[in-house]
Amino acid sequence: MDTALARTWVQAIAAAMDTHKDRLTQLDSAIGDADHGANMHRGFAAVAAALPEYDAATPGLILVKTGSLLISVVGGASGPLYGSAFRSVGKALDAPEAPDAPDEPGGSGPQAGTAGPERVADALAAGLAGVRRLGAATEGDKTMIDAYAPALAAFRASAAAGGDLAEAAAAAADAAEEGMRATTPMQARKGRASYLGPRSVGHQDPGATSTALIFRALADTAAAAKAAA
Ligand code: ADP
Ligand code: MG
Repeated sequence: MDTALARTWVQAIAAAMDTHKDRLTQLDSAIGDADHGANMHRGFAAVAAALPEYDAATPGLILVKTGSLLISVVGGASGPLYGSAFRSVGKALDAPEAPDAPDEPGGSGPQAGTAGPERVADALAAGLAGVRRLGAATEGDKTMIDAYAPALAAFRASAAAGGDLAEAAAAAADAAEEGMRATTPMQARKGRASYLGPRSVGHQDPGATSTALIFRALADTAAAAKAAA
């Protein structure tokens, strides 16, 4: 992940939120307050508008800026949750390497300004930890975590097996979509949907759905970058 890829990823998320805002709002109207599509669209439209003017030297700075904008622009639960996720991913991506960190396996060592897949996995893990810290939800609560956690596990497994960023991100996107679909039979235990109790069963979680879109955007972006290289 380099600065250009971080920018393209966030722009791809903004495009996906534009395309899918009605679907996300529909899902939120069944078990929430019908604003998730509008929230995500407003947030990422603001990010997409601000980023071209933002001169960043590292991919982490792009993602920290994205998170900060989401926090300031998006109301509701998802703004602070996604905001803190992107801020944590960005900070972890830019954190100095441990002094004895081994080079990327099979490569000629990490390139300046480019984070390899295992480092991206660590950064995504920091993002998930941020969501858990803030929202206190766990797997099975019918939230974005039910897409994020399996996506991270699949990303990490692919990276550990030598997969490149495009391969790891594709595995993550597939797992996120599976996790998203698995929220349908769950009863919500966190957020607005939990007020419905058993009536939340039978509906796909909106936040898990937007998380799957975010991972699919990463997979598409990384595949396009790989094809162009
Ligand atoms: P609000 O619920 O405030 O209207 P949104 O509609 O934008 O905010 O987002 C709702 C989504 O936020 C839910 O579908 C769920 O995935 C996610 N969510 C809500 N509470 C939590 C939480 N405590 N931890 C993780 N995700 C949560
Ligand atoms: Mg809502």
